[in-house]
Amino acid sequence: MLSEGGVPQRPVVFVSRPELVNQVRKKLYLLQKDTGGWVTVFGMAGSGKSVLAAEAVRDHSLIEECFPNGVHWLSIGQLDKADLLVKIQSLCFRLEQSLDSPSHQRVASSLDEAKERLRFLMLRRYPRSLLILDDVWESSVLKVFDIHCRILLTTRNRSLADSVSGPKYEVEVESGLDDKKALEILALYTKLNQNGLPEEARSIVRECKGSPLVVSLIGALLKDKPNRWGYYLRQLQQKQFKRIRKSSSYDYDALDQAMAASIEVLPDEHRELYKDLTVLEKDVKIPAKVLCVLWDLEPEEVEDILQEFVNKSLLFVDGNSKPHLYYLHDLQLDFLVEQNREQIESLHSKVVRQYQHHYREAPPTSGDEECFYWIRFLTYHMAKGNLSQELYSLMFSLDWVSLKARIMGPAHLINDYVEHGPILDKENSEVRSQFQEFLSLSGHHLEQRPFPDVVQLALSQPRSSEVYRQARQQALNRANGG
Ligand code: ADP
Repeated sequence: MLSEGGVPQRPVVFVSRPELVNQVRKKLYLLQKDTGGWVTVFGMAGSGKSVLAAEAVRDHSLIEECFPNGVHWLSIGQLDKADLLVKIQSLCFRLEQSLDSPSHQRVASSLDEAKERLRFLMLRRYPRSLLILDDVWESSVLKVFDIHCRILLTTRNRSLADSVSGPKYEVEVESGLDDKKALEILALYTKLNQNGLPEEARSIVRECKGSPLVVSLIGALLKDKPNRWGYYLRQLQQKQFKRIRKSSSYDYDALDQAMAASIEVLPDEHRELYKDLTVLEKDVKIPAKVLCVLWDLEPEEVEDILQEFVNKSLLFVDGNSKPHLYYLHDLQLDFLVEQNREQIESLHSKVVRQYQHHYREAPPTSGDEECFYWIRFLTYHMAKGNLSQELYSLMFSLDWVSLKARIMGPAHLINDYVEHGPILDKENSEVRSQFQEFLSLSGHHLEQRPFPDVVQLALSQPRSSEVYRQARQQALNRANGG
């Protein structure tokens, strides 16, 4: 049930935090008293909130007694309205598909509509279930889930749930593991008995401030080089990196040193490949196939490289999804962005070039995770890679509009024109607004399945519109082609 609901598995090396887990479980039991309510797990980035939330629900009697209708995990992160809409749409879809008699309604086209759909599903079909919202940043996101259901959320911001209604409980996660637990991680990685750990182990834990993420990185290094305790301790103690931006209250020193040490032991060519991950958006999980395109390597080779990164705690894998999806922790991405600040533009344009090379005949249309990634993020990489020309030709094309709407619905598409509006306007602000107008007028049609004929829809645009011009051209081609 948990894996169906997308609850992540334990990390490769895992230590239990029984007191915290019990606190969360107790609060979850309290949610039973009312029809809905909130349990907030809050603490610093990298303190282990997500791992804790997943662990708390790995409990047979809790599930049987409180949430027999299931547990559903949603990774939230910093997202915009379009992303949020897509997330709720796919949650509703997942919930509807699991019913004995799934309904075949069209997808919700606005956040309000999606909220209503979810409210109905939770109230009528899944009244005794739990939603887990992982890493929420904005209270506006919580408002969309303010539908009298039971919610466990993880966040860095303690007061987030102030703005929603219903009973609320909270559990604080301290920023680091206690010494004993952190030492246990090192012992598990190095296959030593806790008492057999060298004296540097304690100092390492102190330097890491017990951060489970940093301890895991160092543990993975020591697993491969078990006689380097002193060396890695000295590495942690160095203050080699100066951050220009400190994007949260998190103290980066130990993390930066540990990340640098882990990257340094990679073979040269793999270090370059890891650098390519700098351009991923936070909280976005990708299938290996995207990296086959980006790195121009065979799937088997990519699999081996990813496994190496995972073993070093440089990357995490969501093994419940098929295909497996890979992601970095926010703090790791912060590090990469900081490290490769000078090359961000060229790294993004590499992504676009590799895509263009691989899909030179035709764009991907399969609707699988890989296709989804490209259709969702191609414009983002073009904008960040400063490839304005490419961005114009893509976004001022009815074919692209039709492809993206078919694969993802219109929400992301509309969002793209708003987000990249300033770049597009430099080329032609009229055409930009013509496309945007077309989407706002036809958005609800583009939600429908079977998917409508976009050329027909576009022919209803004013004759002066570029959208009309392209549609007319295509209609003529069709006619000429018989
Ligand atoms: P947060 O959600 O607070 O940002 P995570 O739960 O994602 O933090 O944890 C960050 C990383 O720390 C994990 O990917 C894992 O490597 C490590 N970690 C966290 N909790 C544990 C634990 N109980 N045992 C082992 N490693 C852990």
